[in-house]
Amino acid sequence: MSRIVLFWLVFSVPVFGQLSSYKVFFGITADQQVLLRQWQQNGRAQYLAVNPQSLETAIVSLSSDKVRAATWAEIEQRFLKTPYVRALQVEKNRDGSLQDAGIERADTTERGFSLTIDLCPSTKPLTRAVFDQLIAAFEPEEKPIPVTITITGLWMQSHPQDLAYLKNLVKRGDLAITWVNHSFHHRYDPKRPLPINFLLEPATNLTGEILMNEQAMIRNGLLPSIFFRFPGLVSDKTVFDRVLAFGLLPIGSDAWLAKNQQPKQGSLVLIHANGNEPLGITDFIRLIRRKAVSIRNKTWLLYELPASVANAEQK
Ligand SMILES: [Zn+2]
Repeated sequence: MSRIVLFWLVFSVPVFGQLSSYKVFFGITADQQVLLRQWQQNGRAQYLAVNPQSLETAIVSLSSDKVRAATWAEIEQRFLKTPYVRALQVEKNRDGSLQDAGIERADTTERGFSLTIDLCPSTKPLTRAVFDQLIAAFEPEEKPIPVTITITGLWMQSHPQDLAYLKNLVKRGDLAITWVNHSFHHRYDPKRPLPINFLLEPATNLTGEILMNEQAMIRNGLLPSIFFRFPGLVSDKTVFDRVLAFGLLPIGSDAWLAKNQQPKQGSLVLIHANGNEPLGITDFIRLIRRKAVSIRNKTWLLYELPASVANAEQK
């Protein structure tokens, strides 16, 4: 048995080796992008960069003369007036409530909201009906339709076909997906109280949960966005600040449909499409049907999250 395990390890390493030495790296590029991560892939140094004005991320391959390492304090100072650092400052000053901390509402002048869909670990298949209904409701007024999907490593491991289905919807031009880190394992114990559950479980390796999931996203061809969503939307001030220190912006939700919270202008609406929340899905489908006329005359639309948060910070 151990020989089989050893065989697997030896032969799985080269595949993983395509992406190695993944780490937090803070730097600034000549064109004023902020660098947050560095790794080696195909013999080249790769970086995860964020545009501090638009909050859009990108994976860039840069030679060392194009990169200047910087301290986090220097980055904050240099980009103080940008939506990125302003959003981080707002987050830093949050009160540290146990549930739903993070950006929960973006640009309130929007005539619509941002849809966020969580893919927590699940043994059930993806609720593909959500995406069929979205496309039926919003096209051709919106094409591609902007949606935010928060994803876990365990979900990616056990649902390769569902992931391929989502990537194909992007390729076809139906969806524009903002991919959000939702931790790798998303541990949850129904018997534990919230202060020692989810990422607050005492033995949690937060760095591993964040960086392992980013690597899994990149290996699966997904571009990690600047956002992070806490499993269960549960955090405390300490873990919240530690996530900020990775340069990430935690997102909450002010409209978790299964909890009967109604969306407002600029809301971050939350539904689960991992097969575990049929109620929220039913509510969502009912909601978009009720709004059919408003969608047709474009007074009720879905908004892309990075742009919506960036706009809110500029006001
Ligand atoms: Zn979750």
